[in-house]
Amino acid sequence: MRALGVLIALAPVAAHATPEFRDVVVHGAKRAPEGAPKKFTQISHLIYMNRCAAGCPVLAGNFEDAVTHHSSIPQQNATLAAYPYGDAAWNSLVQCVRDMYAPFDIQVTDQDPGTAARTELLVAGHAADIGVPGAGGVAPFVPCEGEEIDNTMTFVFALETNNADFLCWAAAQETSHVFGLDHELLATDPMTYLTPPVKKPGFQNMAANCGENTPRVCACGGQQQNSAQFLMDMFGPAHLDPATLTITSPADGAWVKPGFAVHATSMSQLSVKSSKLSIDGVAGDTGNDETEIVLVAPTVLAGGDHVVHVDATDSAARTYGSEVTVHVTATCDAATPCAQGKCLGGFCLPESDVTGGLGATCATGADCITGTCAVGGDATLCTAACDPGMTCPGGYTCVATSADAGVCWPAPESSGCATNSGAGALGVLASVGALLAFRRRRR
Ligand SMILES: [Zn+2]
Repeated sequence: MRALGVLIALAPVAAHATPEFRDVVVHGAKRAPEGAPKKFTQISHLIYMNRCAAGCPVLAGNFEDAVTHHSSIPQQNATLAAYPYGDAAWNSLVQCVRDMYAPFDIQVTDQDPGTAARTELLVAGHAADIGVPGAGGVAPFVPCEGEEIDNTMTFVFALETNNADFLCWAAAQETSHVFGLDHELLATDPMTYLTPPVKKPGFQNMAANCGENTPRVCACGGQQQNSAQFLMDMFGPAHLDPATLTITSPADGAWVKPGFAVHATSMSQLSVKSSKLSIDGVAGDTGNDETEIVLVAPTVLAGGDHVVHVDATDSAARTYGSEVTVHVTATCDAATPCAQGKCLGGFCLPESDVTGGLGATCATGADCITGTCAVGGDATLCTAACDPGMTCPGGYTCVATSADAGVCWPAPESSGCATNSGAGALGVLASVGALLAFRRRRR
């Protein structure tokens, strides 16, 4: 047990109303001399987010020891009820807190670290359970440089609100209080009392006045703090595995029509914050925070080969990407015939010798350059709507699917049989047409 002395004086020194709630910090310590050399902290770099699945005992003490459940905050023993919002919301919350700390060499886990040193955050219970009614969260103190200790107990009272942004914001604020951060008057920083919740984009690399609603002296002296620089100086930069990105479609070397969709998957320990598509180095569509990225190429693209590049940027501001080369179908019309492939729908479509080409076998529309896969008889083939006048390019016949619409289907090869008249061929196609069933699936 380690006596904390003045650090655990329980008179609240920061308890201000916010639009939704307040948190509480108790602190009292001396600031290290200005200009003291910086070094990475000796305290644990681990934050344990405890959802208290079976309820959490909190034992009143005049010291902090998360391993034995002792907290300096409550006046009597308590039990906090479990985080109640389910696994999906919990996992999202843990990821949000990881993202908050992603730039720094701080690990966030929700797996019980046993007796290992950590800073513990209980996300559970009601504020009144440990004697701070009305609080959204509580941290025992704000230490000044060199006074940080391991195994402190911090709290976010999950039963007070189910607002995910708020819970993440409070989690970042309570844990970083015990690393030495004070409240600050910067609305985009998790240390603020201004207009919460503002979980994005994390701790801000910007000097800001300390305070809740008006400027005041910071807990450890001075008028301003820079939360991101503080954590970087204290813990050092993150050590992250490399992030990678895979373009799942189109495949390298695939044929596509202009306006094609690009699907990519980010593989990173961190959340994607943004993504962007470029074609031949020209910036295009952009995406938000989805790990499964879907972007769309321009609808006007010259026929020929193009380099498709997708970049993602994660919460540690790392940008990583991948690229494929695609063959874009050329445009065509009566005056501009195709140098290669069949002109249909204004594009020169490759045929069944190319994956996804006109008449190639398919399972879904996504397999086809045209986006349309149809089943007729025993065949399931890539097809496309007939041109005006129910016409198709040579080698294909328009099979009616309604009174004024149809799809182009490979014309039967001549059997050489003298009885296979033109009318007979059409009859066969008509029967095929009767069996046509469309699968116009697009991903
Ligand atoms: Zn606070």
